[in-house]
Amino acid sequence: MLNQGIGSWPARRARKTPGRIAVVHEDRTWTYRELDERVLRLAHALCGLGVRRGDRVAYLGPNHPTVLETLFAAGALGAVFVPLNTRLTAPELAYNLTDAGVTVLVHGPEAAEAVPAAEAAGVRHRIALAGPDDKGALGYEELLAGAEPAPLDEPVAPDDPCIIMYTSGTSGRPKGAVLSHANLTWNSVNVLVDTDLAADEVTLVVAPLFHTAGLNMTCLPTLLKGGRVVLLGSFDPGRVLDLIERRRVTYMFGVPTMYDAMAAHPRWTATDLSSLRTLNCGGAPVPARTIATYLDRGLAFSQGYGMTEASPGVLFLDREQTSAKAGSAGVPHFFTDLRLVRPDGGEAGPEEHGEILVQGPHVMTGYWGKAVETEAAFAEGGWLRTGDVARADADGYVYLVDRIKDMYVSGGENVSPAEVEDALLTHPAVAECAVIGVPDPVWGEVGRAVVVLRPGASADEEDVLGHLRGRLAKYKIPKSVVVTDALPRTATGKFIKPAVREAYAAAGDSERP
Ligand code: ATP
Ligand code: MG
Repeated sequence: MLNQGIGSWPARRARKTPGRIAVVHEDRTWTYRELDERVLRLAHALCGLGVRRGDRVAYLGPNHPTVLETLFAAGALGAVFVPLNTRLTAPELAYNLTDAGVTVLVHGPEAAEAVPAAEAAGVRHRIALAGPDDKGALGYEELLAGAEPAPLDEPVAPDDPCIIMYTSGTSGRPKGAVLSHANLTWNSVNVLVDTDLAADEVTLVVAPLFHTAGLNMTCLPTLLKGGRVVLLGSFDPGRVLDLIERRRVTYMFGVPTMYDAMAAHPRWTATDLSSLRTLNCGGAPVPARTIATYLDRGLAFSQGYGMTEASPGVLFLDREQTSAKAGSAGVPHFFTDLRLVRPDGGEAGPEEHGEILVQGPHVMTGYWGKAVETEAAFAEGGWLRTGDVARADADGYVYLVDRIKDMYVSGGENVSPAEVEDALLTHPAVAECAVIGVPDPVWGEVGRAVVVLRPGASADEEDVLGHLRGRLAKYKIPKSVVVTDALPRTATGKFIKPAVREAYAAAGDSERP
């Protein structure tokens, strides 16, 4: 095949394992042959709409088999796939569509946002999954029915761009990381080398496919191996538990808040989880409480660390090590190299803090249309700066400390909010919390804990802070506590720390308990 990109994967799989089930969604299944046919039809239809090599095709909607079809069809033509965050408003979507120069937008039922955004961004064609009442759009299924499933052999090279994936926007406006076919392939290879992911895998996908973990840590390695992907439209703890039992799920990825919500669900104890082989958690600091809950249940609960810019896998903890190295995000993936660099530029020794720098064939070439940001993202020698601080133990196991930007200095000492949050979560009344640094005339900065209590629980400032005494050094203990109903989060459930700071840094005494 001339196509060496991931757009050729359905055809290659159809050649090897045509009758195996590739995708499951609600009560429907698609074999690899059916997936390949639908991808070919869509690719021909897109070609008929003028999509050529290098053009950008976007997708907006919840997890659905058509996300994967659009990705592979774009890849079959050498076009670039742009998955969009369903939580964005129309103006934000218009920004992304314009930023990426999208010409065709495929979307689900989100017409209210998609229509004005596509118009504002000058998108040439809209393809809608919804019914015929959307006049300005082409019908997805109609396009497929009118196209041939004829083989396509567009030459695509490994280094051609495959996806423009926007970062989570946890620390500012999302940036479009350009991931090549090679980047994504190497990430899948890393996952397959370092995990037991097998051809009989049943992978549950609950994280949104428009973020890196949902698509690249679960779907792509499973489909490369010939396993089965079970898609859930969007995360819902009850439905996740139900699907694990009903579909005999063997593997899933989630961010910590998802695992917490599952364990807090009324059906948690009654659900049969015996089919699960590995649960992978990452994307945000993983609280010790979360790890303990799953290990206590006898499950292989493994932590990973990564970022959109690295396609995303960087560190992975082997499931044999989950107890011995609990709390660690593991060691670098097989084809990944990592350094920990101190602020003075020296290499961090064992237990010393340093910024994680990453290199490997899965690391992006740069941000789309952002030369300045791209240059700033790489250190000398092509090392990607992650902006995350970590330490490694004597065996080389890496423990995440925090994002550089979220850390603060109190009386000359560095404080990692993640460490304080971890300790706060051991308080029985605390459901969620975020710690921020706020200005202080004496100490420069001091911590403030923003806390969400468990339903029906009560705790005042003294209770919460008293719980930390003896657990944490004095300088790490926040000076104030604000109780709130909810914390700002991204679509994957990650805290948006700048939004927490904006909302609570100036919180007055009246808002304190
Ligand atoms: P933006 O770059 O737009 O601010 P983001 O960094 O949250 O958003 P992602 O690429 O989705 O976007 O997330 C990567 C970041 O998530 C990492 O840089 C790190 O800060 C955090 N992260 C990922 N895995 C872990 C982990 N296991 N422990 C702690 N933090 C993690
Ligand atoms: Mg980031």
